Amino acid sequence: MPTAANEEARAKDRVKASIEQAEQIFTEKNLRFTELRRKVFEEIASTQESVGAYEVLDRLARKGTRLAPISVYRALDALLEAGVVHRLESKNAYFASRRPQGRNGRRPMFLSCEQCGHVFETDGEDIFVAIDTAAHEAKFTPRVKFVEVSGTCQACAGRAKD
Ligand SMILES: [Zn+2]
Repeated sequence: MPTAANEEARAKDRVKASIEQAEQIFTEKNLRFTELRRKVFEEIASTQESVGAYEVLDRLARKGTRLAPISVYRALDALLEAGVVHRLESKNAYFASRRPQGRNGRRPMFLSCEQCGHVFETDGEDIFVAIDTAAHEAKFTPRVKFVEVSGTCQACAGRAKD
């Protein structure tokens, strides 16, 4: 039986693993994983939902780290550039990449649950190819960085039936 304490320990391990992976990606890309970037990333990686820049700011302030919004935005830019976080355009919020870009060369599609706010990633490469093909046929050069789909996750869909 999973207990609340076990769940919490597992969540902590997951966050720790995410931070280690992010650090490795920064190193591979010759970027600096500064203390501030680490702190901002930790706040984002500690939830499966997307979080706005000001929420990150608030959470860090509650832990005693008071920052100017510009500092958080700069850290977020660095995390985006490294590909360890993604930005949901529809919500102007950030979430940690479960499968950081460039690992398998396939671009992800983001699934954002409108009920619980969780963000999931799935392989979106076929969709990107379809968009590129259709755009090129229209003599248009697309600049698609991600595909975002809103809807209902499996857990929330299950709850709705009860
Ligand atoms: Zn949901």
